[in-house]
Amino acid sequence: MSEDNQSITENSEGLATIAASSVMSSEASNGTFRGRTSWVWQHMPGPPETIYLVNGMIHWRCKHCESQYKLAGGTAAISRHLMLKHGLEDTNQKAKVKEQVVQTSIQAAMELARQNQQKRRRQQPDIYEPEYFDSTVFESLLIQWIACDSVPFSMVESSHFRALLIYLNSAVFSVLPSSSNTLTTWTKQHYNLQRISIQEELSVITQKINFSIDLWTGSSNKAYIGLIAHYFDINRIYKSLTLALREIIGPYTGENQAKYVVEIMLEFDLLKRVGYWMMDNATNNDTLLKSLAISTLII
Ligand SMILES: [Zn+2]
Repeated sequence: MSEDNQSITENSEGLATIAASSVMSSEASNGTFRGRTSWVWQHMPGPPETIYLVNGMIHWRCKHCESQYKLAGGTAAISRHLMLKHGLEDTNQKAKVKEQVVQTSIQAAMELARQNQQKRRRQQPDIYEPEYFDSTVFESLLIQWIACDSVPFSMVESSHFRALLIYLNSAVFSVLPSSSNTLTTWTKQHYNLQRISIQEELSVITQKINFSIDLWTGSSNKAYIGLIAHYFDINRIYKSLTLALREIIGPYTGENQAKYVVEIMLEFDLLKRVGYWMMDNATNNDTLLKSLAISTLII
């Protein structure tokens, strides 16, 4: 879009409006006009077709503050400005990412079900059961939701929750546990299955693996230690995985904590593959690191 285009009239503020027809002709003639599909245009004053000119150059102007950006550089810097200065983000993009997570979760549950077919519980013939309902996939998705969203196990005992699920698919009736104890068992089984696939994934990583350690105190005053592995997978994608979260029995000393960390690392065969450690600067973490260093040499 050239500044001398007849259809643009610049006012004292540099704001101008362009008619839809001239957008079309300009686009056709020089191919420089880019359709204003980006979300950033919703955050400029005036209608979306408004052209804001500074010394003849098309700019984007923020409607929330005084900032303005030359458009020639694309909209990435503008998105960053809206996010950092105003906490705004592209809701469409966010919805797309969310949808991808849903797809990935279902695919992962189906993959887990496929790997675990021998574990499949007895299937009672059920005249209501539609063919597409796979009880193993359902179990996996249920556990994922309970674990990832901190949902209490007792949720499965709620008659309102049961009614909702059974309304969505009556086949759920024959597989939905009626007691929270069953969920405890399912969660442990799923942890063990996931652990095997994580062990397999880590076994093919050739680089060193970095770790972070953190401590939590639960509502019942129990202390927990978590070990998180950070690495790039074989597709060079950054991964951050919680390997275990164990209750600490005994004193909170570095030596005692090291015992749990070594135990987890042995389970995953990682003791000799450490890159860096990251933890906060509490004094017992110094002792923890010293104990870990000794264990790495001994084992
Ligand atoms: Zn702004």
